[in-house]
Amino acid sequence: MNKGLLIVLSGPSGAGKGTICKAFLKENKDFILSVSATTRKPREGEIDGVNYFFITKEDFEKKIQNDEFLEYASVYGSYYGTPKSFVIENLNKGKDVILEIDIQGALQIKERYPEGVFIFIVPPSMKELRNRIEKRGTETEEAINERFSSAFNELNFASKYDYVVVNDEVNKAVKRIEAIVMAEKCKIERQ
Ligand code: 5GP
Repeated sequence: MNKGLLIVLSGPSGAGKGTICKAFLKENKDFILSVSATTRKPREGEIDGVNYFFITKEDFEKKIQNDEFLEYASVYGSYYGTPKSFVIENLNKGKDVILEIDIQGALQIKERYPEGVFIFIVPPSMKELRNRIEKRGTETEEAINERFSSAFNELNFASKYDYVVVNDEVNKAVKRIEAIVMAEKCKIERQ
């Protein structure tokens, strides 16, 4: 049996990768979302085990020591990590898995699982990026500035990915990702 496809959606903060990932999953029900672990506090409406596994720093560090993450990173002062066994088991069963993670994490996965498909999501413009970061409304001015300047620097990492998808409109971006998935499934080396 063929292994499943590992799709890694990544890109700067504010590019809209979370929104795109959700919209993609709505249309592509066979894909399995990997729920990450994090030490950040839940935002209003977020559910443990659905949006993230919200765990303590001590638990997170224990999991690092036990090599339970496919990748992990510290993003804006909190840890985020992808549970390794969940992802690998599903891929081995032939299921397609999608991850939505930051750039540091995506680059780690590229080292450990190069057969993954790495998609870089970019905002249509820097102005729009700033708007999107501001619109979240959950951050202070200082945090917004920090996110914006790091997002700006992160755009340089695009060349490390297999594909770039511009998030001008969510539906269009989803269609582009579906086209990438289709192309990857038709690749000779996957048959
Ligand atoms: P947020 O706190 O806004 O949900 O996410 C902050 C950032 O962490 C986003 O860029 C998101 O993609 C990233 N992120 C979420 N889960 C993971 C993960 O498991 N690993 C890594 N490296 N980044 C993650």
